[in-house]
This record gives sequence, structure tokens and C-alpha cells, in this order.
Amino acid sequence: MSSRLQVDWTRCDAHGLCARLLPDQVTLDPWGFPVLDGAPLPDARVRDARRAAQACPALALRLSRT
Ligand code: SF4
Repeated sequence: MSSRLQVDWTRCDAHGLCARLLPDQVTLDPWGFPVLDGAPLPDARVRDARRAAQACPALALRLSRT
């Protein structure tokens, strides 16, 4: 089973918090919207990714498991 971050673009307000909490997984585009590589998260980063998803002020960041 692998975990990936996903953004609900209908909710994301470009707060940028996710990039601050997960700088190795998320970068921001010139408008402040997150850029994800879509790759499965390393196991060691899943806990921090879950925290980032919970911290998203717009509830736009989600951790999916496939
Ligand atoms: S923290 Fe949430 S609202 Fe802010 S850029 Fe990331 S996904 Fe979007």
C-alpha cells in the first residue's frame, strides 16, 4: 500500500502552509498553489504528510492510500 498527497483544487486557497510543512514534497507555483510530483510518499514522510493535510486551513489537502 502506498500513500500520495492530493489537492482538491476547488478548495485550495494557496495559503502555502503545505509547502512549509513538507518542503521536500511540495513546492509552490508563482501564484502560491502547491505543486506535487504525484509520487508515492516515502514511508518516513507519511506521518508528516498526514499532519500537513490536517493543518490545511482550507481542508484541501488529502492523503490517499492505494
Ligand atoms: S495548505 Fe491547503 S490551501 Fe494552502 S496551498 Fe496547501 S493545499 Fe492549498
